[in-house]
Amino acid sequence: MAAVEELLEFLPGTDCGQCGLTCREFAAHLNTRELAPEDCPVLHEPDFAGYIEALQELLGPVAAGAPAMSVDAEKCNGCGICVTMCEYHLGNCAEARLGRGPRPGDTVVFKVVNGTVVVLHQELCTRLIQAAEKCNKCADHCPTRAIILT
Ligand code: SF4
Ligand code: SF4
Ligand code: SF4
Repeated sequence: MAAVEELLEFLPGTDCGQCGLTCREFAAHLNTRELAPEDCPVLHEPDFAGYIEALQELLGPVAAGAPAMSVDAEKCNGCGICVTMCEYHLGNCAEARLGRGPRPGDTVVFKVVNGTVVVLHQELCTRLIQAAEKCNKCADHCPTRAIILT
């Protein structure tokens, strides 16, 4: 777990409130994995290029003991099929249930950021909550075989 002060170094520090929190509160939620760096809309602005990646590095790998899930960024074309098909999203995101994919405020296992899928909350994946054999949909439907589940 990273220190909140360290995480704050890579947040805008403006307390703009778009996330409904102060930057310090947002940093604390990053540590508990209730929020991911991508959930701060300001970090998607060009002035903050590289900050999301820096925060991801500080936070370290997702949930110890989680089944390995990785996305080959070289193969991923950002089509979003996996995000739309994800068993967790279909069960927990209202718009996804209608076949339209999760909305920006939804908590998701992964989403497309700048044309590549980024894993945010692997701990929500059905494979971890239930069992590895319970779901393989994202990998099965990926047209480029970019998702590796082990
Ligand atoms: S949206 Fe970003 S900049 Fe605004 S308060 Fe939240 S963390 Fe801070
Ligand atoms: S389905 Fe495959 S290529 Fe499409 S966004 Fe997901 S990982 Fe990337
Ligand atoms: S394996 Fe996990 S991430 Fe992939 S579709 Fe199933 S629930 Fe979603």
